[in-house]
Amino acid sequence: MAYVIADGCIDCKDATCVSCCPVDCIYEGVRTFYIHPEECINCGICVSVCPPEAIFEDVELPGPLKRFIAINREFFGPEVTGLGSPGGASSMGASKVDHPAVATAPRNIGGKPAPCMPSS
Ligand code: SF4
Ligand code: SF4
Repeated sequence: MAYVIADGCIDCKDATCVSCCPVDCIYEGVRTFYIHPEECINCGICVSVCPPEAIFEDVELPGPLKRFIAINREFFGPEVTGLGSPGGASSMGASKVDHPAVATAPRNIGGKPAPCMPSS
């Protein structure tokens, strides 16, 4: 069980969640952030601070967004970044790649405008 960042973060990335996470397990990609599924301690703090409500507990993801469980997990695997489990995001910097599903996503793929996304 872990928390998952879904499509509302894409092209939003205001990073409020990053500074709130007590275990530094929210990693930066190019267009979105990713929660490390093994490093997350399931505290739920990040959910309440995310402007576009992009963070869900994995068991509460709406059906169309369940694929983000795999997207968050695969970001750390050999098929995307090969980061594994670094034990902390702050020393890693931003990744130069996204999961392919995020890299190729149209803006605002969930159809819900993100409050921190430019309107243009
Ligand atoms: S607070 Fe929400 S929109 Fe901002 S970086 Fe975190 S998950 Fe993305
Ligand atoms: S649920 Fe807690 S530990 Fe997991 S990403 Fe959010 S703030 Fe970090």
